[in-house]
Amino acid sequence: MITLHQVSKSFGSYEAIKSVSLTINRGEIYGIIGPSGAGKSTLLRLMNVLEKPDSGEVEVNGQLLTSLTPAELRRARQSIGMIFQHFHLLSNKTVHDNVAVSLELTGFPRKQRRARVMECLAFVGLEHAASKYPAQLSGGQKQRVAIARALANSPQVLLCDEPTSSLDSSTTAEVLQVLQKINQTLDVTVVIVSHELDVIKSICQRVAVVDDGFIYDTIINEPTGIQFVDKDPQSFVDRLR
Ligand code: ATP
Ligand code: MG
Repeated sequence: MITLHQVSKSFGSYEAIKSVSLTINRGEIYGIIGPSGAGKSTLLRLMNVLEKPDSGEVEVNGQLLTSLTPAELRRARQSIGMIFQHFHLLSNKTVHDNVAVSLELTGFPRKQRRARVMECLAFVGLEHAASKYPAQLSGGQKQRVAIARALANSPQVLLCDEPTSSLDSSTTAEVLQVLQKINQTLDVTVVIVSHELDVIKSICQRVAVVDDGFIYDTIINEPTGIQFVDKDPQSFVDRLR
């Protein structure tokens, strides 16, 4: 479970997140949608305290991250994986070594690293690509390597910042399927930032609509269609880029 309690974050005099409170349940696929500059990435980075809030509390998996020492926070972050729009792979390392890096960082037993890397690559369907370099892969494959890397230390939470924004529609579907499989088979709570309503509709159960640094609406995704809790849907759609 992820809880933000009255969290605020400013950059200089600009208030990017304005006293946001939210709860994401364990096992949920939760979306964050909104226009460019709304504060989506900042909100996501507050969830693992990559951005330190100016005020308020962040709790993940029963740990109050905002009260931990830097060393404790580094340990707590091992259970929170993260992926990004532009993959952030190391271009001079093989697919295998890109995933292995996260095991090295956490001191995962050396002898078991290769088996763990191959297990994670198999999970995303890329065990055959272990010795390739990122430049030899498609966008969807690169994102699946990044997902394998994020899974290596068995996180309970996976934070995804625009995971499909660099991909075409068929590779978007491929990556969303992997995220759904992670949620369902590994019981990982998934948070997805996107500005694409279709992405959100296809896999999220609840969605925070962020604009100007606060949550101004919530969408519930039901089998019968999406329900806006508070506001006018058309004005919302108009505001997306
Ligand atoms: P996008 O859809 O373009 O990725 P976003 O919703 O993710 O946008 P954020 O990146 O969270 O938006 O940024 C919210 C606001 O905070 C923006 O006005 C941005 O310029 C500002 N901001 C974000 N990070 C910083 C920073 N490190 N220093 C200064 N301003 C920042
Ligand atoms: Mg962003």
